Amino acid sequence: MHQIRSFVCSQWTGTDAQTADIVNPSTEEKIGEVLYGNLDTEAALDHARRVGGPALRAMTFAERGQLLLDMSSVIHGAREELFTLAMQNGGNTRKDAKFDVDGAWQTLGYYGNLGLDLGHKRYFVDGEDVALGRNPRLCARHIWTPREGVAAHVNAFNFPAWGFAEKAATTLLAGMPLLVKPATSTCLVAFRIMELLEESGKVPAGAVSMLIGGGRDLGSVLESQDVLAFTGGTSTAQMFRGSASVVKAGARLSVEADSLNAAVAGPDLGDSPDLFNQFVTDVFRDMTQKTGQKCTAIRRIFVPSGLAAEIGEALVEMLETIQTGNPETEGVSMGPVVTRTQLESVEEGIQRLKDGNVELVWRGEAKGDRPGTGGKGFFVEPHLFRGNSSIDPVVHGDEIFGPVSTILPYDGTAEDAIAGLKAGGGSLVASVYSDKRTFVEEVVMGVAPHHGRLYLCSSKVQELGAGPGTVLPMAVHGGPGRAGGGEELGGLRGVKHFMQRTAVQGYR
Ligand code: NAP
Repeated sequence: MHQIRSFVCSQWTGTDAQTADIVNPSTEEKIGEVLYGNLDTEAALDHARRVGGPALRAMTFAERGQLLLDMSSVIHGAREELFTLAMQNGGNTRKDAKFDVDGAWQTLGYYGNLGLDLGHKRYFVDGEDVALGRNPRLCARHIWTPREGVAAHVNAFNFPAWGFAEKAATTLLAGMPLLVKPATSTCLVAFRIMELLEESGKVPAGAVSMLIGGGRDLGSVLESQDVLAFTGGTSTAQMFRGSASVVKAGARLSVEADSLNAAVAGPDLGDSPDLFNQFVTDVFRDMTQKTGQKCTAIRRIFVPSGLAAEIGEALVEMLETIQTGNPETEGVSMGPVVTRTQLESVEEGIQRLKDGNVELVWRGEAKGDRPGTGGKGFFVEPHLFRGNSSIDPVVHGDEIFGPVSTILPYDGTAEDAIAGLKAGGGSLVASVYSDKRTFVEEVVMGVAPHHGRLYLCSSKVQELGAGPGTVLPMAVHGGPGRAGGGEELGGLRGVKHFMQRTAVQGYR
C-alpha cells in the first residue's frame, strides 16, 4: 500500500486528517492513500519563491540545462518501475505507459540540450536593437528575464509523467521554481518521480515542489509574478479564469483544456492504398491509445462521403482486435478509464450522441471475462459513430474523453472540410491525409487560426511522422477557443511563458 504525501517546503508533508484512496482502475482495489491533511499551500509557494527562485536565477541556462538532463536521467533510470505504477494506477497498457514516461524523460532531455546550447547566460535578447529617434545612440533593446514568482502547475490525470515533465522543463529552464499539483486519482507515477528526484540530490532546494490532494486555494493565493499553468477540464479552467489569483493579483494564466481534434481524409485518399492504410492506422491508434484519454485523440473523422463506408469497415476491422482487461495480463490491448466518474462521463457522452440521432456504426463487446479484473473495473469498449454531415452539431458539442469517435462525411471539397473542422470551436490538432497540394493548402489557410497544430501527412512522409497524437517538444502544443487558448513547448517559445519581456530604452 502506497502512502502518498506532498513534497513542499523541502520536506514530505501531509497528515491523515484528510485522505484520498488511490485505486487500481482494472480491479477497483485500493493500492494507496494520499495523506493531505494540514497542507499549507501559501507556505509551499512562499518557500519556492524565497528559496527555489533565487537558486535557479543564479544559475545560467547551461547550468539549468544540466539540471534538466540530470532529471531526465533519473526518470530514465526508473522507467520499468514507473511503467508498472502507470499500469496499476492509470489503467495503462505497457505501450501507453511508455508513451507517458518516455515522453517525460525525452522532453526534459530536449530542453536540457537546449539549455546547454544557450550557454552561460541568464537572460535573452529579443531581436535587434531599434533606434528610437534620429540619433542611433538612443535605442531600445528587448530582454527576457525570469519571472520572480513560482509557477503553479495544475495537471490532468492522463499524463502524470509527461504532464509533469513538459511543464517542468520549460519552467526550470526559464529560471522559475515550480509547485506541481498532479491530478489526485493518478498521482502515483508523479509522486514516485518526485521521490526519485528528491533522493537524487540533483534538484536545488525549493526548485521543484509537489502538492498532492490539496491546492483547492490555488485560485486565491497566487501573486503577480506567479504563473498558473493549468491542464484539465473546461469547468475547472473557468474557475481559474475568474479566480482572484488571476483577476485580482494578475498571475499569468495558461490553459490547456478540452479539444475535439480531427483527422481529414483528402478527396484523393482512395487513389493511394498506402496513405489510406496510414490514415486508418493513425485514427485507430488515436482512438484507443490510453483508452482514448488523450488530449490529442481524434474525436472527429472527416471522410469524403464516397469513402465513408470503406473507411468505416477498415476501422472496425482494427477495432475488433481490441481486447480490454487488466493491462498487467498477457494479451490485453486496452485498459480501463481511470475512475468511475470518468466511466460515467464517457457513458453519458455516448448516450448524448445516441439521443442526437448520430448512428452507432459499431461498438466493441467485452471478450469473455476481461482478463485479470475479477469482473470489476472501469471499462468501456470502443464506439464508432457516423454523423449525418460535416457539421452535425451533436458531434461538435462536447469532448467524450474515451475510446469514442465519429465519422463525419463531407462532400470532398476543402470548403466543406474547413466548415467541419471549424465547428470544433478551436482544437489542439487536426491532421490532413492527402497528396493533393491545392486541397491541403486551402485547408491549412482555412483552419490554421482555429488550431494550435496541423499535421499534414502525404505519401512522401507517411512513414516518417509519429502521428498527429504525439506532442513533440520542438513544436507548440495548445490551441485556441475550446482548447483553452494556451501554448506550451515549441522550443524556446515555451520557455518565454515563464519570463518577462522588457523594453530597455537607453543609449549605447
Ligand atoms: P479536471 O477535473 O479539470 O482536473 C484537472 C486538475 O485540476 C486536477 O489536478 C484537479 O485536481 C485540479 N482541480 C480541479 N478542481 C480544482 C480546484 N477547485 N482547485 C484546484 N485544483 C483543482 O480535469 P481532468 O478530469 O483531470 O482532465 C481531463 C481533461 O483534461 C479533459 O477534458 C482533457 O481534454 C483535458 N486535457 C487537456 C490537455 C491539453 O494539453 N489541452 C492535456 C490533457 C488533458 P484533483 O485531481 O485533485 O481534483
